[in-house]
Amino acid sequence: MTARLIDGTAVARGVRADVGRRVAELVAAGGTAPGLATVLIGDDPASEVYVRNKRRLCTEAGMADLHRHLPGDVDQATVAALLDELAADPAVSGILLQLPVPAHLDAEALLGRIPAEKDVDGLTTANAGLLAQGRPGLRPCTPAGVMALLAEQEVALSGAEAVVVGRSVLVGRPMAQLLLAADATVTIAHSRTRDLAAVCRRADVLVVAAGIPGLVGADAVKPGATVVDVGIHRTEQGLRGDVEFAAVAEVAGAVTPVPGGVGPMTIAMLLANTLTAATVQQGRPSR
Ligand code: NAP
Repeated sequence: MTARLIDGTAVARGVRADVGRRVAELVAAGGTAPGLATVLIGDDPASEVYVRNKRRLCTEAGMADLHRHLPGDVDQATVAALLDELAADPAVSGILLQLPVPAHLDAEALLGRIPAEKDVDGLTTANAGLLAQGRPGLRPCTPAGVMALLAEQEVALSGAEAVVVGRSVLVGRPMAQLLLAADATVTIAHSRTRDLAAVCRRADVLVVAAGIPGLVGADAVKPGATVVDVGIHRTEQGLRGDVEFAAVAEVAGAVTPVPGGVGPMTIAMLLANTLTAATVQQGRPSR
């Protein structure tokens, strides 16, 4: 392997430690510890694991864990009422509705009840609009985590060719917007893109979030490019991403592994967003 390995686990640890220090400073300066309300509906095992990790790391960073759990057969009005209660509660700095919600619920309508200033997942229409307009707001955690990895690696983005594979509301679109805000020349590829490999080969920075194991191989990577793999797939050989890691690592300049790349960054950025939300709500300077 010739590419540099981008260690997301280490970078995420550093982000969480920084958040923990800043939470302690906020409290020492007379502020209130940020509170994160994770809302889990039902008992999907994968969602339970994600929420448990978020709560544990939230507590480790000195924040209040204000978790709420609702049964899987709860009705829309009850969830809406809970979100309204959390929105009005000054102890709650951030609200995270764990997705997916059960099929009988309207997730869009529920997300719409979360006030933009408490939307620590950055998924409301209001925050997506602020991002699209290049204005300050809470950013979606996974793409924000990719930006933090690129910054830590000192990857030059201004004027660079960036290609994002995937255009989901959760990852691809906000990823492209964040790269654009950093002055990259951004191309978004998706399932209708003709000759994906040729498009990807333009990239100095290639971010792959397609949800297809091994979609991007060495033939799609410009020598020396930075390749970030957002995909996560549970296979018999363990976790793997959307990128053919071993082959791409022979061509790329730097590459994220799966696991240990983007994954750990997502929760770290959730904690950073919760701290940002709390400092803004408490009228204190945020950075
Ligand atoms: P998604 O909503 O399914 O979106 C996938 C995107 O990829 C779509 O825009 C789709 O295009 C595009 N696509 C599908 N097949 C393609 C192909 N053959 N060539 C080019 N583009 C193609 O998925 P997502 O929520 O963005 O997640 C993507 C991956 O990231 C998943 O593996 C997910 O598990 C992972 N993920 C990881 C984290 C993390 O913390 N590391 C967080 C979120 C997601 P169309 O729009 O044309 O259909």
